[in-house]
Amino acid sequence: MAIQLQQAGIRDIVILERADAVGGTWRDNRYPGAACDIPSNLYSYSFAQNPNWSRSFSGSGEILDYIHYLVSHFNLAPYIRFKQNVTGLNFDENAGLWHASIEGGDTVRARAVVMAQGPLSNAIFPDIAGLEKYKGHTIHSARWDHDYDFSNKRVAVIGTGASAVQIIPELVKQAGFVKVFQRTPGWVLPRPDFETPEWNKALFRKFPGTQDALRKALYVTHESMALAVIWNSPLTRIAERIGRLHLRRQVKDRWLRRQLTPDFRIGCKRVLLSNDYYPALQQPNCKLVTWPIDRLSEQGIRTAEGIEHQFDCIVFATGFDVCKTGTPFPITGLGGRALHDEWARGAQAYKSINVAGYPNLFLTFGPNSGPGHNSALVYMESQLDYAVRGIQKILDEDLKMLDVKADAQAAHNKAIQARLANTNWNSGCKSWYLTEDGHNVTMYPGFATQYALQMRTLDEADYRRTPMAGG
Ligand SMILES: Cc1cc2nc3c(=O)[nH]c(=O)nc-3n(C[C@H](O)[C@H](O)[C@H](O)COP(=O)(O)OP(=O)(O)OC[C@H]3O[C@@H](n4cnc5c(N)ncnc54)[C@H](O)[C@@H]3O)c2cc1C
Repeated sequence: MAIQLQQAGIRDIVILERADAVGGTWRDNRYPGAACDIPSNLYSYSFAQNPNWSRSFSGSGEILDYIHYLVSHFNLAPYIRFKQNVTGLNFDENAGLWHASIEGGDTVRARAVVMAQGPLSNAIFPDIAGLEKYKGHTIHSARWDHDYDFSNKRVAVIGTGASAVQIIPELVKQAGFVKVFQRTPGWVLPRPDFETPEWNKALFRKFPGTQDALRKALYVTHESMALAVIWNSPLTRIAERIGRLHLRRQVKDRWLRRQLTPDFRIGCKRVLLSNDYYPALQQPNCKLVTWPIDRLSEQGIRTAEGIEHQFDCIVFATGFDVCKTGTPFPITGLGGRALHDEWARGAQAYKSINVAGYPNLFLTFGPNSGPGHNSALVYMESQLDYAVRGIQKILDEDLKMLDVKADAQAAHNKAIQARLANTNWNSGCKSWYLTEDGHNVTMYPGFATQYALQMRTLDEADYRRTPMAGG
């Protein structure tokens, strides 16, 4: 966002970051095996490509290095204020200014605010009875304890989602014994991960057009995956067949295979990519436990059939608070309205980015902007361009308020929800994409290209513009 604002000539920017370093997701998720599951040539910005990715799917350390490179190359450090935990946003409609409250009592005022607090930045522990009773060591995947020595330890992993399938193969190499507690098996597809040869990096450096071409090819390939993952099509059947073949090839034991066979349509939950998860589960020091967890005890985990499993350490690969029915902190808009209340039954916005009654506020990864099949950064770039256009308008036209109209927002959401009804996400499984009522407020029901097209224009007719007094 800061790069794009800077390039549009807007330099009166402040970035408020609660941590003491940049990196977001890739600063926090440093567990063993952490890596992206979108090829790095697509999981990077089109305006700042990196010819030096070491593999097709880079690890978190390398992505973090890329973020550090962006900060230094685009000279972003002067804008960043660390250890600034934003605890609330309040719009002063007389002045046309947002007031951001910072933990500790400070306030920052701004003509416009971009919410970039991350879709997956608040780690959560599951709602399991006795969580506070357990006396051993606990680690959340997004807050890894790098000082803990796993050797000879009895370790539990709770969760079998995207982080768990990366952690388990590494833990099995380090720990004495690993038990994996699975609630629902996911679809696992092979991961086409290769080291990038030196000649390839040299080619990208010498002829950047070749990297552009690869990025475009990867983009189109991922777009075509929407047909398998988002909607129920013949490609969905093919993707499921690949998943079943992968399982059959890697797991010979019939009982285990049955435990690992998903009972929902592929795409309904996030598709997992791994070549070493199934082999890790079959190592002599690893066991899959499929009995539901009843409670945590002082020593470990008690499962529903009454067995207590004792552990030195429990790893929670249990994901994030995705904030589907509320806001990460109180946001007060026109006339004292509270976004938390308005979103109590499910978040909604206009084109995922603006909310009626909250002028001059732009959301990244707002409601229904989530990708299921393509790079988050492709969606992010469209959001950044859109926010720049909006902010430019506020400044150029000296607007007190640029506020999306409630009816435009309602029409947008009606169309989105109608399109979601026919997607695999809404086909009956329980996932973090849905609210408790089964309302999908996270995912965008279409191709990334459609998303980008809708974000290309800021349609003035859909906005109410209020000039500054005397403007
Ligand atoms: C383990 C993992 C793997 C992933 N892999 C992929 C992938 O392969 N492909 C993909 O497309 N996406 C992936 N994602 C999604 C990923 O979150 C996004 O791709 C992207 O990193 C989001 O970037 P962001 O800047 O919006 O948010 P983040 O990277 O989460 O950054 C948000 C920042 O805001 C700060 N912050 C939050 N709240 C406050 C507050 N109240 N006050 C001040 N600062 C605050 C946080 O400290 C953080 O630094 C993955 C996510 C995780 C967790």
